[in-house]
Amino acid sequence: MKPPAFVHVGGLTYSLEFPDELEGDNSMGRCDPRTQTIQILGTLPDDGRKQTVIHEILHAIWAAYGVQKGGEERMAYQLEGPLLMLIRDNPKLVRWLAD
Ligand SMILES: [Zn+2]
Repeated sequence: MKPPAFVHVGGLTYSLEFPDELEGDNSMGRCDPRTQTIQILGTLPDDGRKQTVIHEILHAIWAAYGVQKGGEERMAYQLEGPLLMLIRDNPKLVRWLAD
């Protein structure tokens, strides 16, 4: 299944891109609230891509809702796996929430 081209976060629409490389550093993903762009390293395996999408969406959530900076990176790492599992393991819940 192809990933969506856009993600809606806090009333903003981010484009979701999967380039083969990310400029500048060796991270697996990035979220730029200024351009409303999330980029995920396209060469990652499928589950790694999904978990990294969750990670970058968490950054977009922080940007949208103005959560205090500081523990942001640590929190994103702590929540990316559990959130992906929650979404994967509960397709009925996800459809219900999106309805
Ligand atoms: Zn991060």
